[in-house]
Amino acid sequence: MQTAHTFEIRRSAQRTSFNPEILPPGKIFVDGEFSAGTGTASFTVVDPSTEQDILTVPRASVNDVDRAVEAAKNAFTLWGRTVPAERSAVLLKIADRMEANRQVLVDLESWNTGKPAAVAEDDVDSAIDSFRFMAGALRAGTTLAAGEYAKDHTSVILREPLGVVGAVTPWNYPLLMGVWKIAPILAAGNTLVLKPSETTPLTTLKLAELTADLLPAGVFNIVTGQGSVIGDRLSAHEDIAMIALTGSVGSGQSVAAAAAPTVKRVHLELGGKAPVVVFEDADIEAVVAGLRTAGYWNSGQECGAACRVLVHESIAEEFTRALGESVASLVPGEPGAGQDVEIGPMISKAHYDRVLEHLRKAEEEGNEFVTGGHALPGTGFFVEPTVIKAAQGASCTQEEIFGPVISVETFAEEAEAISRANEVPFGLAASVWTKDAQRSHYVAARLDAGTVWVNAHLVLATEMPWGGFKGSGYGRDLSAYALDDYSRTKHIMHNTAR
Ligand code: NAD
Repeated sequence: MQTAHTFEIRRSAQRTSFNPEILPPGKIFVDGEFSAGTGTASFTVVDPSTEQDILTVPRASVNDVDRAVEAAKNAFTLWGRTVPAERSAVLLKIADRMEANRQVLVDLESWNTGKPAAVAEDDVDSAIDSFRFMAGALRAGTTLAAGEYAKDHTSVILREPLGVVGAVTPWNYPLLMGVWKIAPILAAGNTLVLKPSETTPLTTLKLAELTADLLPAGVFNIVTGQGSVIGDRLSAHEDIAMIALTGSVGSGQSVAAAAAPTVKRVHLELGGKAPVVVFEDADIEAVVAGLRTAGYWNSGQECGAACRVLVHESIAEEFTRALGESVASLVPGEPGAGQDVEIGPMISKAHYDRVLEHLRKAEEEGNEFVTGGHALPGTGFFVEPTVIKAAQGASCTQEEIFGPVISVETFAEEAEAISRANEVPFGLAASVWTKDAQRSHYVAARLDAGTVWVNAHLVLATEMPWGGFKGSGYGRDLSAYALDDYSRTKHIMHNTAR
């Protein structure tokens, strides 16, 4: 069934397609100012499509975290008392400022991650939309009516901010995952200290630079550095009320363990291995078109990626051949190489090696590469878009690869499809493809995932919650549910008896 095809990396005509003037300061941002921090080392941010160095950024110290928390704590005394209309106005100004600098943010994100222009544009537009949504949602909060629930006592519910929130973000959507935290955290009236990924701090620092005059000093702080040092300190800090992480399961476990002694709230958006259940009556062309995007968007470095297909055995051959052919037409390349580039590199050499190791293991276990399966030669961390015809239980069907790889397995019965879809430890996203409305409701209700699409995959809406079950974590990003997560209810009861 192998699709005979050779992928070629489309290269940018001028290697220096990005303008160094758009770079943010390579510094930490604390109490409204950029500074070098007190760490004694730095790390180098690398362009993954050319392997060239971009900028060095401080490996900050625990003392820098403590100073940022102190600044956020002081800023909370005023920010935490602002009324919704005031915070909403600031969030709208941030969105406008981002929009005015949209191309700078798009270029910076593409440069740092190698992602195609279309992906970076979607990231920045979605980030702007998140600020606008939260600016509206924070003014429209509803809660139980104030009323008399115990005789002669009037109950009032206050929704309050928590205080200082710590946030730790990943490298796959550096700006967007940052804003999914920053927007609701600020909207709810908290202040925050954020640690971006070591590999991708640029757009987060740029956001601070662009919005420094819009937020009071100390409301939004950024400390760059290692997860095991900065993330751990944020998780353990007794003046931090809540810690939110988007990242791998291992980092989530470390954060939850470090947070336990102070009993702070924990919000975890972790890994995924989204099952795609394709029934015999599905529109094969539509499924293939959907997966060509949803499996390979952001080079498959996507926690909700459509990466684990379970297809009914009666259509498996036709479907797998069609998917293989379609995936073979994907265009890999550098972000500067044109709007038609669809697949960028892996984020780093370490991640590239991890993805290739998964592919090596898949081959060793006897699974068949329908398309791709190897590294793309040349500079940059490029991997071929890959479709694997996989045996039931193969490791490529169970482990999060986080690369441009879809595995295809078959099933015979509906009940089997449901139980096998649910057999992985993750529960972030899933999709069901069928023309049978009753079946789509029945199956969607039984899939253990925070988001289930029917005849679609990876379509997100800012108004709808995003988050997982099981090993994918808990807590919700996006939507009014995120505002609930980053705030607390307080019941005040007045004795009205006379
Ligand atoms: P990662 O866990 O390696 O890193 C994420 C962040 O956590 C980084 O900033 C890192 O420095 C920090 N970190 C690492 N160790 C830490 C520790 N001990 N304590 C505190 N912080 C620590 O993940 P990654 O490789 O950057 O991102 C990929 C992972 O993120 C994948 O598993 C992916 O599924 C997941 N992800 C999930 C979602 C979602 O919405 N559920 C979104 C994007 C990415």
